[in-house]
Amino acid sequence: MSEPGESRTLLKLDHVEVRRGTFRLVLSDLSLSVARGELVLVVGPSGAGKSTLLRLMAAIELPTSGRITIAGQDTARLTRRARAHLRRRIGIVPQEPLLFEDRSVLDNVSAPALIAGERKAEAIDRARVALQRVGLDAARFGALRCDRLAAGERRRVVLARALANRPALLLIDEPGGVGADPGTDAAALFETLEQFCSAGVAAVVATRAPQALPSEPAARRITLLEGRLQS
Ligand code: ATP
Repeated sequence: MSEPGESRTLLKLDHVEVRRGTFRLVLSDLSLSVARGELVLVVGPSGAGKSTLLRLMAAIELPTSGRITIAGQDTARLTRRARAHLRRRIGIVPQEPLLFEDRSVLDNVSAPALIAGERKAEAIDRARVALQRVGLDAARFGALRCDRLAAGERRRVVLARALANRPALLLIDEPGGVGADPGTDAAALFETLEQFCSAGVAAVVATRAPQALPSEPAARRITLLEGRLQS
C-alpha cells in the first residue's frame, strides 16, 4: 500500500453520497483527498456523518453514489475479500474501545496480525512494539486481562491494536473518548500520530469535541455539518 513511486494521494473521495432509505441523505456530494503522511481532523457535531465517513474510508461501507479510492483502488470495484485484504493496512480506532475482555492485552493487540496470517512470534513482537509506541509497558501490561484495564489504558490498547499491522492509514473516531484525563490522553495521542505521519502514515481523526484536543495540532482541519463539508 506504500510502494516507492506510488502516488502521494492515499485516499480520494469524489462526489460521495450516502443515503439511508429513500430520503435520508447522511453524506452529500463530499469530495476530499488525503495524502500519505497527512493528518486530517474532521470536526462536526453529533449526527454530522463523521463515523459514516470513517466507515467509507475504511472500506467497511460503500457509498450510495460517487467514488472512493484507497491507494488507487476503487472500493466499490473490489470483491469482499479484496476489501478485507485492503483493510489489513488500515488501522481503525472506533468510538467504543471494544476488546476481548477475558483475553490479555497482548492477545488483543496481536490478534489482527494473527488473523492476517502472521506467525505467532512475529505477531507478539509487533504487539510489544505497538504497546511501546502508545506508552504502555508490555512487561507490565502485556499479560493483564483487558477487563482489568483503566479507561484510558483501554483506549491505548485499542490504538496499539490499530498500529500493530503497520497501517498506511489510521482512522480514529473520537480521540477524547472515555478516559481519566482526556486532555492528556489526546495530547499524547497527537504526539504519537504526528510521529506516524512524519513516517508517511496518513491519519484521519473525527471529533465532535475539538476543545478537548491539543490547541494547535499539526493537522488539516475540516468541518462536517449535516453531511456536507464546509469550505
Ligand atoms: P457522533 O458524533 O454522535 O458519533 P457522527 O457525526 O459520527 O455522530 P454518524 O454516526 O455518521 O454521525 O451518523 C450520521 C447520521 O446517519 C445520523 O443521523 C445517524 O442517525 C444516521 N445513521 C447512521 N447509521 C445509520 C443506519 N444504519 N441507518 C439509518 N441511519 C443511520
